[in-house]
Amino acid sequence: MTVMDRPASIADRLDDKTLLRSESFIGGQWVTGTSSFEVSNPANGEVIAEVGDVGAEGARQAVTKAAEAFETWKKVSPFERARILMKWYDLILENQADLAKLITLEMGKTYREARGEVVYGAGFIEWSAEEAKRVHGETLPTPFPNSRGWTIRQPIGVVGCITPWNFPNAMITRKCAPALAAGCTMVIKPAPETPLSALALAELAKRAGVPDGVFNVVCGDAQKIGPVLTGSDAVRMIGFTGSTEVGKLLMRQAADGVKRVALELGGNAPFIVMDDADIEKAADGIIASKFRVSGQTCVSANRIIAQPGIADKLVEALEARISRLKAGDGFAEDSDLGPLVHMEAVSRVDALVKQAREAGARIVTGGKRLDEELGGAFYAPTLIDGGDPKMDVACHEIFGPVASVYRIEREEDIIRLANDTPYGLAAYIYTRDVNRVHRLTEGIEYGMIGVNAPMVGAASTPFGGVKESGIGREGGKWGVEEFTELKYVLLGGVDG
Ligand code: ADP
Repeated sequence: MTVMDRPASIADRLDDKTLLRSESFIGGQWVTGTSSFEVSNPANGEVIAEVGDVGAEGARQAVTKAAEAFETWKKVSPFERARILMKWYDLILENQADLAKLITLEMGKTYREARGEVVYGAGFIEWSAEEAKRVHGETLPTPFPNSRGWTIRQPIGVVGCITPWNFPNAMITRKCAPALAAGCTMVIKPAPETPLSALALAELAKRAGVPDGVFNVVCGDAQKIGPVLTGSDAVRMIGFTGSTEVGKLLMRQAADGVKRVALELGGNAPFIVMDDADIEKAADGIIASKFRVSGQTCVSANRIIAQPGIADKLVEALEARISRLKAGDGFAEDSDLGPLVHMEAVSRVDALVKQAREAGARIVTGGKRLDEELGGAFYAPTLIDGGDPKMDVACHEIFGPVASVYRIEREEDIIRLANDTPYGLAAYIYTRDVNRVHRLTEGIEYGMIGVNAPMVGAASTPFGGVKESGIGREGGKWGVEEFTELKYVLLGGVDG
């Protein structure tokens, strides 16, 4: 690894589509790797960057820098930390267009969605900057005469943060903003598909005045970098968003050092439509939840559970909407859906649809690959009707533009089916009956529930799941608390 003699500013080159080489960001310096890997645009397969892999050694250096920086960052006044974060927020919004361009280039979502992601992600920085000033302890009654008790909240320390490709910007800010606000320092390993967004955020953090070593980005082989983060004594917490399989692995690795883990893992979201619901609104909600980012979000509607009385009408309303959706390059203004992240994703989604067809479900619209036709990792927006809720497309996280409808009559059976999964991240319920709202929201085991609302995430609200969907919450005051330790102090022998 060599330290670059100039800042290889990604953000300075954001309008250049031929980002040829990118480095990691360690201790405030741009560092090349010992080998490199390619980043390509899933809409056409073109290589857009070659990124250095800093491997285990780079991760160790980053942890050392983060541990050194923690000693001073934790003592910076929360008011000053808030000011720096607000500067970062402003710079991100000023560079919204370029950051969005990077997102679309790296992982394919439409430019409109990418711009939305930048604003959504920046929202966590704004919220956390405000919240930095409200991290405080309490005074407590004690059972001992002449004594006083109180708590203080302190930053947990260095946080290792491993992020996915589907929100390459916001999944970093959602973790880093509260961590930095609390006084923690970070080592971030972005997904290999989307390192450029992470590096651009690092460049802007540096310009905002985030001190060297507080925000480090290490690119490279997850199997080499991951164990350094989970194994280092200096790292006190692992924040991860990704698959349940990798989350479990990280949790096992972190167990040796009894590190705190915050895990945002997979989902299998039920989208429940009761027979008293507004069907047009429910159909709009399903389109928003299911086809955003081509279905590649962990909160995407995965199973549409409809009461039989309205199911045909709902399928009809969905068919009309889905057959109008246009898949295409995320930069094209008329594209509603970008490509999937890579060709393996296309094959995986196609296999799920084939299996559903073989199991007797009806493919109402779509149901085919579009990669040859459109020259990238595209799959047709698809509607499946009438399948068995035990088939793969209902039991696995689809992560693609495929909606499937299941008809279930009794409320108890709907609740049972909704809960019949190891996951418990997001769920959606459409009904106008307030009693049903209470019975269903209390009966289903999910961390976030949208009632007549297809999108649940916001900077001010707790994002996270139950069961195998994760541990911990991101966002709101809970997001900042995750990165703190609660310390209790008892002062004995107070006069009087
Ligand atoms: P996906 O299948 O959607 O890519 P993953 O859970 O595999 O989801 O990836 C999410 C993040 O976890 C990425 O940054 C990836 O590089 C990282 N990752 C994958 N495998 C490991 C591992 N064994 N140790 C640490 N990080 C990993």
